[in-house]
Amino acid sequence: MRAKETSALLIGRFQPFHKGHLEVVRLIAKECDRMIVGIGSAQLSHTFDNPFTAGERHLMMSRALHDEGLDNFFLVPIVDINRYAVWVAHVASLVPPFQAVYTTNPLTRRLFEEAGYEVRAAPMFDRHIYSGTKIRTRMVQGEEWESLVPKGVAETIREVKGDERLREIMKDHSPEVTI
Ligand code: ATP
Ligand code: MG
Repeated sequence: MRAKETSALLIGRFQPFHKGHLEVVRLIAKECDRMIVGIGSAQLSHTFDNPFTAGERHLMMSRALHDEGLDNFFLVPIVDINRYAVWVAHVASLVPPFQAVYTTNPLTRRLFEEAGYEVRAAPMFDRHIYSGTKIRTRMVQGEEWESLVPKGVAETIREVKGDERLREIMKDHSPEVTI
């Protein structure tokens, strides 16, 4: 029989996965045996807030985590259900069993605590630069963004022409347009 392992859950949209997220991953790798990353709002892509598909985010993160020397992790896409009261049960139904949740988001903390999970606080690392919104804004403005994300993430974004996609989304953006 396997020895009991501590599994941690990290959940976010990771649009994109950046070096602040990577610091949280490093902390989890020190404190836990196994990590589960929930890729939230998995159904969304091609908008300013959520430009990358779940599959693209999966590839970005698996490259970054492998480059970090990690292999004991699961990446699980999680679609929104828009019902906070049952969201934790939804997440738990999709991912391998876990004991601890790492989050800095107050609502995520509340929901997992109410469901009886141990929630651990991860500090914010250089949030003034490591923020998905700031990185996407830099892409739109044609500024340097590559140094804010792990190498495997930058590679993936370049492969799918993600920065160009974002600039086009913003160029075409008009509130009247629906598809
Ligand atoms: P966005 O600006 O698009 O919301 P984000 O940088 O906040 O992007 P999320 O995917 O929303 O990234 O965050 C996932 C989790 O990572 C959340 O718990 C969030 O608070 C945390 N997080 C985000 N930035 C950092 C950071 N610099 N250091 C530590 N944790 C972070
Ligand atoms: Mg956020």
